Amino acid sequence: MLPKMPPRSGQTGFLYVPPYRVQGISVAGEQTVVQIPELDVSFDIGMCPRIALSSAYVALSHGHMDHVGGLPYYFSQRMFQKMGVGRCVCHPALAEPIDTMMRSWVALEGQQTPYEIIPLEPDDQIEVKNNVCLRAIAVSHAAGSLAYGIVERRSKLKAEFLDLPQDRLRQLKSEGHEITRTLEIPLVAYTGDTEFGPSLFRDEFSNAKIVISECTFFEPDHQSRAKVGKHLHVVDLAKLLEVWQAEAVILVHLSRRTNLVAARTLLADTVGEQNAARVHFLMDHRTNRQRYERQEVEVRV
Ligand SMILES: [Zn+2]
Ligand SMILES: [Zn+2]
Repeated sequence: MLPKMPPRSGQTGFLYVPPYRVQGISVAGEQTVVQIPELDVSFDIGMCPRIALSSAYVALSHGHMDHVGGLPYYFSQRMFQKMGVGRCVCHPALAEPIDTMMRSWVALEGQQTPYEIIPLEPDDQIEVKNNVCLRAIAVSHAAGSLAYGIVERRSKLKAEFLDLPQDRLRQLKSEGHEITRTLEIPLVAYTGDTEFGPSLFRDEFSNAKIVISECTFFEPDHQSRAKVGKHLHVVDLAKLLEVWQAEAVILVHLSRRTNLVAARTLLADTVGEQNAARVHFLMDHRTNRQRYERQEVEVRV
């Protein structure tokens, strides 16, 4: 008898929430990488699938292997494929260990891979696109854990100037009047690995268009395990969904043992049918494909 072929694995999860694609692979303890191509950012890089290479930024949530393992490969392949120096955004506590790791690779490979490490203190931010910032948010999981919010900054005319003609506005501006105010529009938020806490209720989360959230545990008797491991349980999600306005909440970091059909039932029972309708599982390939096919039909109409 022939030995069995190895399982087909490593399929990339995909959801389209116009205008953003959310794609990646995420299984608790194994690997997590979630990419938004339109924003040039990958959140975490447990392994480095080919798609992740195109992001100029990798934003690390913390130092666990299932979130960092693909980083040296990402730096190296970006160079090999002439895509420019890769940039890693991380908590300052992680900057030195990552630098040390990359120096070790120089000796191992006998060549120097360029890389850029951008440490971000909680509440610091960098611009990843024109007027679009990636902001670090402190969360509690491992040493140096961060969630991230991506926010767009738009300048708007202040209400009191709305009815004025253009030349009057130009005049006011030239006289040094502050005629605009900056509006912040949260686009995407990513929890990383985290326990339940106040950071998840911040504006970057509650008003984001898309929230990518870990939800490692679903079983009712796994609540204590979630607490010990500093992870989220579906019970926590119920409270968060009361506040998160997002049109799509995308769950990642489920354990491999989680049965998706059972998880969806537990989700609906816990958060209610209405809230469950805007929750997606990144790795539920079949459901997401059906959703995409419906989107294809809508585009054609
Ligand atoms: Zn993890
Ligand atoms: Zn972790």
